[in-house]
Amino acid sequence: MIEADKLLTPIPRARVLAMKEYHPPLGNRDAMRLDFNENTVACSPKVREALGRISAGALTRYPERAPVEALAASHLGLDLAQVALTSGVDEAIHVLFETFLGAGDVILLPVPTYSMYEVYASATDARIVTVQAANDLQFPFDRLLAAITPLTKIIAIANPNSPSGSVATRAQIIAIAKRAAHSVVLVDEAYFHFHGETVIDLIDSLPNLMVARTFSKAYGLAGLRLGLLAGPVELMRWVRRVLSPYSVNSLALACLPPALEDKTYLEWYVAEVLQARGEFEQALDASGVRRWPSRANFVLVEIGAQHADFVRFMLATGVLVRDRSSDPGCDGCVRITIGTREQMRHAATALGATMAELRGGIRSAGEAR
Ligand code: PMP
Repeated sequence: MIEADKLLTPIPRARVLAMKEYHPPLGNRDAMRLDFNENTVACSPKVREALGRISAGALTRYPERAPVEALAASHLGLDLAQVALTSGVDEAIHVLFETFLGAGDVILLPVPTYSMYEVYASATDARIVTVQAANDLQFPFDRLLAAITPLTKIIAIANPNSPSGSVATRAQIIAIAKRAAHSVVLVDEAYFHFHGETVIDLIDSLPNLMVARTFSKAYGLAGLRLGLLAGPVELMRWVRRVLSPYSVNSLALACLPPALEDKTYLEWYVAEVLQARGEFEQALDASGVRRWPSRANFVLVEIGAQHADFVRFMLATGVLVRDRSSDPGCDGCVRITIGTREQMRHAATALGATMAELRGGIRSAGEAR
């Protein structure tokens, strides 16, 4: 009987069988959350009010996205047909890859980069080709350009990139889009607000450029899962064939207008993070911890062989940080989200104590020998 049951167990596609499991550490996060690059405080109070006004009856209806999509489009200076709201940028990535990647296609990924590109790409029949950044973890422009072939179907560029915090310039993105005119060039601007530079205005002039934005970071709405994909009408038409008309829930849709409207809150949070980043970078330099320059709300630091102890000691002082040492080219590295100045002063104290503990440990181990 058992044998027969086994034979009947459904088996997924070969590509899914070969996929790695991805389990980000989302549990037990009741500490200072400097691990997932979220807003570390709260969303705008205007968004909170809008949530409070949602009636029980309103939840019985399927969400209507078009009016809110139109608002998001006009906020970005685009037409409705150029914009789709998604359940987080993750859904935008998923649907875009499902729309364009088939057998024989290649997706080019400069690495290290955001993990979900590989997750979604490996579920398609396309081949993933990675382009490794050099030791400085800067955007590997020349090598990416050289890696473009007639098989390239998508190039995914997180700008700013995670976990490095590095950026591609506007001129580099234009050069890539022109060289790879037969490919979709996705520029994922999840961390746009902390960088302040965008290529979304080029959507009208570059027929293969698509840009993603999220409400999970600066806006503080990661729990609502709200993202956006913008691109030329021709490409958006294909994406919309695959995209669910129901995937953005009505709570997220109700929150988007006040989130866009409350510029004061957004500007306050971004300014706070940028000031905190400067102060925290100084604290890192004073502690002698190597760091990479960052244009986002996080900073990547090199801890070395003791990276796991570092994460553990930081947590013991109440600060969650993210071990990125298994990312390509990130041996011994940890990523620290930047929150408010007050939070980062606490984090700097925790870092000082942690480094003293780690270095003390090394010294006493050395002395014992
Ligand atoms: N893109 C990048 C580069 C990210 O770092 C993240 C989140 N860590 C996302 C997209 C996911 O965004 P969302 O929450 O909108 O799915």
